[in-house]
Amino acid sequence: MNPVFSGLGETVFDVMSGLARETGAINLGQGFPEWDGPEDLRARAAQAVMEGPNQYPPMRGLPELRSAIADHYNTTQSLDLDWRRNITVTSGATEALAAALLAVLSPGDEVILFEPAYDSYLPMLRRAGAEARFVRLRPPSWKVDTQRLLDAFSSKTRVVIINTPLNPSASVMDEEDLSLIARLCIENDCICISDEVWEECVFGPAVHRSMMGMPGMRDRTIKIGSAGKMFSMTGWKVGFACAGPELTEAFARAHQFLTFTTPPMLQTAVAFGLQTAADRLSAMRGRLQGLRDTLTRRLSEEGFHVLPAAGTYFLSVDLARSGVRASCAEFAFRAVKEAGVATIPFSAFYASPPEDALVRLCFAKSEQTLEEGVRRLAIARNLMGTSG
Ligand code: PMP
Ligand code: GLN
Repeated sequence: MNPVFSGLGETVFDVMSGLARETGAINLGQGFPEWDGPEDLRARAAQAVMEGPNQYPPMRGLPELRSAIADHYNTTQSLDLDWRRNITVTSGATEALAAALLAVLSPGDEVILFEPAYDSYLPMLRRAGAEARFVRLRPPSWKVDTQRLLDAFSSKTRVVIINTPLNPSASVMDEEDLSLIARLCIENDCICISDEVWEECVFGPAVHRSMMGMPGMRDRTIKIGSAGKMFSMTGWKVGFACAGPELTEAFARAHQFLTFTTPPMLQTAVAFGLQTAADRLSAMRGRLQGLRDTLTRRLSEEGFHVLPAAGTYFLSVDLARSGVRASCAEFAFRAVKEAGVATIPFSAFYASPPEDALVRLCFAKSEQTLEEGVRRLAIARNLMGTSG
């Protein structure tokens, strides 16, 4: 077996959801809403299954979807994208990330990764033959340390991967950090792979800005999005990659041999969703923000130390400051098995143990689920708390 994969465990998201299913635990781990997505989008997909198209769509995606993606980003992020030259539809952002890394990396290249880092980046860049250079971000601001970033660049640096809003910290990268990274990408002739799957899950006053819109970055950024996140249907696995014409050509060469295409009936429904996005996206944000506030309040009332969450489906709890004496991994595994509540330990987003013991909780759940989750988290704390 290839050592990159034979040396890996199963992803923490699947492990935690599997344990939650087996034990009947409340699942605040893997990031998916407890509700199904918009009914009219599901009706569109069902109609497309019955009426077609059900045969191979174009390799780069249905024109109606590619043009809806370009229009959406041109309107909401002032990006000036042309659907023919700048857009590829993929089978989820996961595939887009793999295609981007395979398209641009060669053995011996270096990639700068900010930790915490989403768990697919490191194995896939290694599989492409590259090495990672890590730059840690620290709570509560999760801001980039200029010197650490400068130190991470070398003559071999080819790619910088960013993720904003950031999973799992729920922080949104500000203009200062984006400008710094953009400047260093330009000076070092690097490409930025910008994972923006959470771009629509941002709560005021935070504002999402795309790396692609930063001066000088349009043709050196691969911007990655996910319809699953935009429309609260994480199982749909329809992703988008936006890039300059040259990068889009290289990207499409990799995509054509990973999945080649994405189910056309889902593409049809996502195109409809994007054409009617404004109201549904603001309703989704309002609902998520309300649930974030509920979970934050209830956890705080129970004496948990909650970090601010400006975006995503997640908030995080500082275990040491909440009276828990356990590493985040120990807490997460014991909490799901002994207290019936699944969480995600931040250690899953680091190549070596993090300084802080944090767990990530998904708040895209009903109020009742959140309430019961908090009750069980308090039980878990009692098991591992200062007196336990
Ligand atoms: N990147 C990040 C930061 C994510 O959080 C996720 C999934 N939540 C993905 C990529 C994968 O998205 P998709 O389900 O569209 O493949
Ligand atoms: N991205 C989702 C999360 O962070 C999980 C996706 C997956 O399970 N691969 O929870």
